[in-house]
Amino acid sequence: MLDSERRPPSVDALARSLSAEFHLPHALLVDCARRAISLHPQEAEAVARDLAHRFQQELIQDVINATGVILHTNLGRAPMATATSGRPTNLEFNLQDGSRGVRHQSVSRLISLLTGAESAVVVNNNAAAVMLVAAALAENRDVVVSRGESVEIGGGFRIPEVIEQSGARLVDVGTTNKTRLRDYERAISSKRNDVAFVMKIHPSNFSMKGFTSETTTKELAALPTPIVVDIGSGLLDNTCPWLLHSTDRVPEWLVNEPAARQAISDGASLITFSGDKLLGGPQCGIIAGSRELVEKCAQHPLMRALRPGSQILVPLQQVLMSYINRTATSEIPFWKMVTTTLPHLQTRAERIVQRAGIGQVVPSPSVIGAGSASGVEIPSIAIELIGNVQDSLRKNATPIISRMSRNSTFLDLRTVSEEDDDIIVEALKNI
Ligand SMILES: *Cc1c(COP(=O)(O)O)cnc(C)c1O
Repeated sequence: MLDSERRPPSVDALARSLSAEFHLPHALLVDCARRAISLHPQEAEAVARDLAHRFQQELIQDVINATGVILHTNLGRAPMATATSGRPTNLEFNLQDGSRGVRHQSVSRLISLLTGAESAVVVNNNAAAVMLVAAALAENRDVVVSRGESVEIGGGFRIPEVIEQSGARLVDVGTTNKTRLRDYERAISSKRNDVAFVMKIHPSNFSMKGFTSETTTKELAALPTPIVVDIGSGLLDNTCPWLLHSTDRVPEWLVNEPAARQAISDGASLITFSGDKLLGGPQCGIIAGSRELVEKCAQHPLMRALRPGSQILVPLQQVLMSYINRTATSEIPFWKMVTTTLPHLQTRAERIVQRAGIGQVVPSPSVIGAGSASGVEIPSIAIELIGNVQDSLRKNATPIISRMSRNSTFLDLRTVSEEDDDIIVEALKNI
């Protein structure tokens, strides 16, 4: 072998020395070693370790959410376990006669049962759902939206832009603070417009106070065009029948959340919502309502680009079954977290503090997050640690994400699964 073809031995030696500390593929460690040597030949070892550490932290991995924000967008919103057997599924295969099947058939039936919709179809997220509805029902036509609901929801989701990207034209009506039924009527009857549907959007994390009024779905249902309602958060039914088997009443924080069943019965032709907010399922977007309009969405060419696979549809099906079974509060982590009682959280916190020998148990405000039930706090219990120890918690083998307030670090237990209490004890001992 020629000299020039041989690896510089120091790269390989450095990579091998990193392998004791990092469980990363050898080729990755070689890459870190090579970059470290060319960047800082004098301190190659420390730099290589730093590069490997950074890469390890960039890997998408389990973390413990101790922020008290239940649906934390940066932590993947609704937590849920997804175990798959690794076998193929009958995703698009009809087991009855061996012909080609329809991928959203079973979830459509379950969503219909839960919401009263005639049919439903699933896409990658709610932004995709809104875009597909506009493309399928209103290409080169007009969509009427209240000026008070032409909002940006977060992560760059701006209603006017999503509608225009889909090839529809936005016609906004009313004023920022007040939109009345006759504002919609005027836009629909105007000769200048070719209105495909009226869209109502739940402003989620944005609210207006004072001299305001909006037109309800029930009132809009009197209009001659279809009504599409983006309810956003995916609460299935505001009477929460899945809570009736437990001791919980309908929680107060839900009162202003629009719900799927009620929007449909109020006369929405279609509704759209996220799968990973109050529904507590995997990341997806659901379009439900009139069979004819759902079918138009499902048949649109964009559907091919937006359809989820069985890695999403199987967990979604499972979550919907839990609602039907009324086992949501034991099987869906989101509902388990929001219904955990304060005495239970208090007992857990006291045990952790006692075992770790550090920290203080204090009341704490947890919130729903992801723009849902915005401004509403759910009382919770946290462990307070004086000073800023966020870095140290984040560097734990299973990273723990906490919250800072004043000069203390808080670990809110409502968002922590009870099975992870041991991990918290060990992490606190190491501070
Ligand atoms: C969250 C939300 C969206 C965006 O949903 P994604 O699933 O994040 O795409 C759209 N509209 C409303 C009203 C929302 O609350």
